[in-house]
Amino acid sequence: MISTKDAIDLEEKYGAHNYHPLPVVLARGEGVYVWDPEGNRYFDFLSAYSAVNQGHCHPHIIGALKSQAETLTLTSRAFYNNVLGEFEEFACRTFGFDKVLPMNTGAEGVETAIKICRKWGYEKKVIAENEAKIVVCSSNFHGRTVTIISFSDDEGASKNFGPYTPGFIKVEYNNTEQLEAVLRDENVAGFLVEPIQGEAGVKVPDEDFLRKARKLCSEQNVLLIADEIQTGIARTGSLLAVCGNCTCEGDCERQSETYVKPDILILGKALSGGVYPVSAVLADKDVMDVIKPGQHGSTYGGNPLGTKVAIAAMEVVRDEKLAQNARRLGNIFRGEMEKLQDECELITVIRGKGLLNAVEINDSPGSTTAWDLCMKLKENGLLAKPTHGNIIRFAPPLVMTEDQLMECIGIIRKTFLEFGQG
Ligand SMILES: *Cc1c(COP(=O)(O)O)cnc(C)c1O
Repeated sequence: MISTKDAIDLEEKYGAHNYHPLPVVLARGEGVYVWDPEGNRYFDFLSAYSAVNQGHCHPHIIGALKSQAETLTLTSRAFYNNVLGEFEEFACRTFGFDKVLPMNTGAEGVETAIKICRKWGYEKKVIAENEAKIVVCSSNFHGRTVTIISFSDDEGASKNFGPYTPGFIKVEYNNTEQLEAVLRDENVAGFLVEPIQGEAGVKVPDEDFLRKARKLCSEQNVLLIADEIQTGIARTGSLLAVCGNCTCEGDCERQSETYVKPDILILGKALSGGVYPVSAVLADKDVMDVIKPGQHGSTYGGNPLGTKVAIAAMEVVRDEKLAQNARRLGNIFRGEMEKLQDECELITVIRGKGLLNAVEINDSPGSTTAWDLCMKLKENGLLAKPTHGNIIRFAPPLVMTEDQLMECIGIIRKTFLEFGQG
């Protein structure tokens, strides 16, 4: 097998340098573990940015992939296929919407939601042609297309990629006063928001932020668009982050007081358990019906292979009660990190929900401390990645057991305490 060094050299030589990976090569994965070519085992604490919530190579999902791969993989939407309808029913029932539109990647899901929202704005809210606006939040992350980076705060993501797509207004994340003010503009069609901002460093808004946003949007006839590509599929301790404290696994009556129903829900990443790219946009009839034949689509979107994989991935979340596990282990994780914080000056802030957590490191965003800590964690058998310089995200697969989590907390403790001593 190719060595770690040779694999990295090849990527350096032939690959576009659009990422800055930690210098570890992954050659195999199973559940919460990954292995490098030399056979060293690591706990995966990134889970491919929460795409692998069900764990690496989950046998139920891989089984679905294998059998569908031998049967039928792609038909295009020029014809019906015998899996898509089953997926659509499963997704609508699981997440509580009338209709779903399947795509492939997260960014495509966001683009789809923006298109549906604008079209709804013109045809249902009767906004004048080309005047529709969508409100977005500071420090958002919604993907990498030209339109999406047009409303990003991240200079690296947007600089020299202009001209930018117009029609977006930015408000401060978690600021309902600013939101209320901009929603009065009658050309506003939608409010696009992450229930927790993952890429920004796991920013958790006030408990009632979404509920207030829901109320304001309803009052002004504006669509609430939730990007749950990272927070959805049990990651934050409920099936969706918009479910709040509801612990059901998808068979919900949606009467929980904490549930906030968005008008448009965007899913991706763990919707297919890290096995095959599948994203989806869900909405009720009155919104989704603005899209007519020929107005939007994707060659691979809704293909039998991807949709079969996605059904299996959603079954795993339900059958293995991953939301409940994420909630329980998340509470343990933050509790143990708080104990560590008392003993170790490296940690300034601990935040998160379920198994989407972050630790802020006591150094400037320009420092290498968080990166150096992640290198030490790697040497000790645990993979995590710094974000925004001084934040480390901890997001293991949701199939983790309590014993495994305690072993990982041991690794993190040891690494931080040794590092703190220089
Ligand atoms: C990852 C992510 C996306 C983009 O998904 P891709 O599959 O990488 O295009 C969009 N929104 C959020 C919140 C994400 O975490």
